[in-house]
Amino acid sequence: MIIETRAAPPFFKNGFVIGCEETREGIVIDPGDEVAELVAAVTQHGLTIRYILLTHAHLDHITGVGAAKKALGVPVGLHREDNFLYDGVVQQGQMFGLRVEPQPKVDFFYDGPGPWRFGNYGAWVHHTPGHCPGGVCLAIGRDGADERTLIVGDTLFAGSIGRTDLPGGDHPLLLQSIRTVLFAFPDETVVHPGHGEPTTIGRERRTNPFLK
Ligand SMILES: [Zn+2]
Ligand SMILES: [Zn+2]
Repeated sequence: MIIETRAAPPFFKNGFVIGCEETREGIVIDPGDEVAELVAAVTQHGLTIRYILLTHAHLDHITGVGAAKKALGVPVGLHREDNFLYDGVVQQGQMFGLRVEPQPKVDFFYDGPGPWRFGNYGAWVHHTPGHCPGGVCLAIGRDGADERTLIVGDTLFAGSIGRTDLPGGDHPLLLQSIRTVLFAFPDETVVHPGHGEPTTIGRERRTNPFLK
């Protein structure tokens, strides 16, 4: 599996390009201010992108959607319960004192777990509300194999968890999502958070101070 991560100021939010090394099909996840670097990684790997998938609709995860869609010409998916945040991206920017461009409408909502396929891989959608109402984690893996790589948005970080003080945030619900959905994956599962370094389910289960 090809996986490329990029981050840019001011939020240093991770955007991802994930690809099938055999068929050269791929997906882009959470294009933000680093979108030009993501598109460059797509070109560098010779990938044909099938979808732009969003973990949630906070502004740092969506400010590059319009540019990514223009460059790649593929549909954009989001969980329905985050559409109010998506449509309010300009107002989200104002909360941070930033001028943000409106983004094109999303093309589809995640109705069911998927998978959204690219080459020999799929991205299965797991609803993990708490950081925001429509937050999801994307479990990515090969068709017919058990191993998954998790793209968790801002639900879980290495040594921390997502903030719940923004509109629609719910701290007990976030803890429940992590414990019931993410911790159902085996310890060796690699986790790519929306900010910072990768970790594993086992490491967070053992050492994350918010989940003791
Ligand atoms: Zn967020
Ligand atoms: Zn974020």
